[in-house]
Amino acid sequence: MGGVGLFSRKSRAAEVRAPLTSPLDAIADLARAFGRHAFDLPQETAERLEGRMEDWAKRVVQPGEEAALTELKLAITRRRQAEKQYVPRALAEVKSALMDALASLSQTVCEESETSERVLGRLSELAAAVETDDLSTLKLRVKATVEDLTSELERSRRRAEHRLVEMGEHVEILQADLSAERKKSATDSLTGLHNRGAFDQDLERIARLVPITRQPLSIVMVDIDHFKKVNDTYGHPVGDVVIQRCADALVRAYPRKSDYVARYGGEEFVVVLRGATAEEAQRMTERFLESMRAAPIDCRDAVVPVTCSAGIAQLAPGEAPTEALGRADKMLYRAKKSGRDRVEVDR
Ligand code: GH3
Ligand code: MG
Ligand code: MG
Repeated sequence: MGGVGLFSRKSRAAEVRAPLTSPLDAIADLARAFGRHAFDLPQETAERLEGRMEDWAKRVVQPGEEAALTELKLAITRRRQAEKQYVPRALAEVKSALMDALASLSQTVCEESETSERVLGRLSELAAAVETDDLSTLKLRVKATVEDLTSELERSRRRAEHRLVEMGEHVEILQADLSAERKKSATDSLTGLHNRGAFDQDLERIARLVPITRQPLSIVMVDIDHFKKVNDTYGHPVGDVVIQRCADALVRAYPRKSDYVARYGGEEFVVVLRGATAEEAQRMTERFLESMRAAPIDCRDAVVPVTCSAGIAQLAPGEAPTEALGRADKMLYRAKKSGRDRVEVDR
């Protein structure tokens, strides 16, 4: 061929270096590469094409297989045509799936009312980009949208965290209000002592501990003597002050942390003494009666002499606390009957 044909031309550089691969070998390599980098098509898998290309590669380099080149060319052309039809269809399917995903994402984002307009704007930009064929723009838009969504989610998370902290503070305030309310509802407003409702509950609770602690428990009922006369003589407001002073004196007379003083009703009080026998309770109560006797109450230009009567019962083993309370009340009645300003103990 005198070195003028396409496949026989040799450069001076090639003559110096290793001999060039034969053109047919190069075509065979190309056919193999075409097969190796193929992708699956509905009509032919990549694996099958690779096998076919290997066959062409072997045939084109064989003497007497001149027709193989033409057949190879035809096969590659057909494959390319099939790819041309397949790729736009596949791309259209991917875009449609992307549009569906965008639609549901926008829906979710819209339901989150605080999500910024910016993210919604990004999503509609992305939808517009999907409609166009520009893949590189689409890639950029997807990247920007993902970044915006990520930072929006982070802002959302921080907002939720802030709301949680606020709710926590709110709950704390409510709890404080509730416990203040509870305390108020258990307290007698005139004297600041436990009220009757609280006493009824607390007596049960305190008595339940008696078998466990094995300590004695005594109940003292106290009633102001001839209190009606105080009201009648000095007026109701003075009567109120007398009740208050009497409550203060009770708190002073039963000063231990475990001593429980309540206003039972009207001018009547009840004291629960943990760790006190009836005798000990009696001694404490005598001192209280003495303190009342010794100090008439000074109020609104009046000096009101006040005495009290008391009844005591010690809780017996296995006895219901209300029964012991009833016995203390009976003793109070006895103290009234036997002259007032005295204490009676149930033995
Ligand atoms: P006794 O020595 O037998 O206990 O006689 P008393 O007058 O103390 O008892 P009585 O039960 O006859 O009267 C109690 C009075 O206490 C009647 C009621 O109007 C009055 N009273 C009840 N609660 C209050 C109050 O909160 N304030 C005032 N000022 N009076 C009250
Ligand atoms: Mg009375
Ligand atoms: Mg009374």
